[in-house]
Amino acid sequence: MQFAIPQANVAAVPVAGSAEFFPVHRIYCVGRNYVEHAKEMGATGREAPFFFMKPADAVVPIAEGTVGEMHYPSLTSDLHHEIELVVAIGKGGKDIAAANAMDHVWGYAIGLDMTRRDLQGEAKKLGRPWDTGKGFDKSAPIGPIHRASETGHIEQGEIRLNVNGAPRQKSDVSKLIWNIAETIEHLSKYYTLQPGDLIFTGTPEGVGAVQRGDLLEGAVAGVGELRVKIV
Ligand code: MN
Repeated sequence: MQFAIPQANVAAVPVAGSAEFFPVHRIYCVGRNYVEHAKEMGATGREAPFFFMKPADAVVPIAEGTVGEMHYPSLTSDLHHEIELVVAIGKGGKDIAAANAMDHVWGYAIGLDMTRRDLQGEAKKLGRPWDTGKGFDKSAPIGPIHRASETGHIEQGEIRLNVNGAPRQKSDVSKLIWNIAETIEHLSKYYTLQPGDLIFTGTPEGVGAVQRGDLLEGAVAGVGELRVKIV
């Protein structure tokens, strides 16, 4: 096939301990998936999981052991951090039952669902889409993807984020309202999952603003660490 204009590069994330890259197809995100974060965002009670998306090229891939850089984005004065466990899909499908869902998981990474909270808040108030608050350029810094065949499935373990050495977010993956298998079951009713899809599984409580110069250090037990500087 001959393209009329140059084809965009494939968004890709390094694979831990390997020279290979994981090609990103889509980025799905789960909203309000830890009880204490749902409360801090003003929600009450258990609701069905809901989803939003970021474009694939929103990833900012950060190689193992390095400090990534994220430019402070335009049109916001309230850029928030959301540390999340990211699930990488290796086998696609639709209407996947929770009982089989983990067969579709290829690996795990640590990601930041960076959010222009002021724009998201405005969109919520006006009943408009979240895209400008959530799906902006470079809004998804992410560390290397660890193969599930090496880490095992990540169903529990500490998830945390420090900013400039001070603790901001701290919880446990076991506190996900909708666990990974249930999330895949729900998501695959809405969309046909494809190899290369990433799922940001939601953030625990403690979200807050960052400024230029801040160093964000995230970790999920079993998946290593992620370090990003806001520039
Ligand atoms: Mn999030």
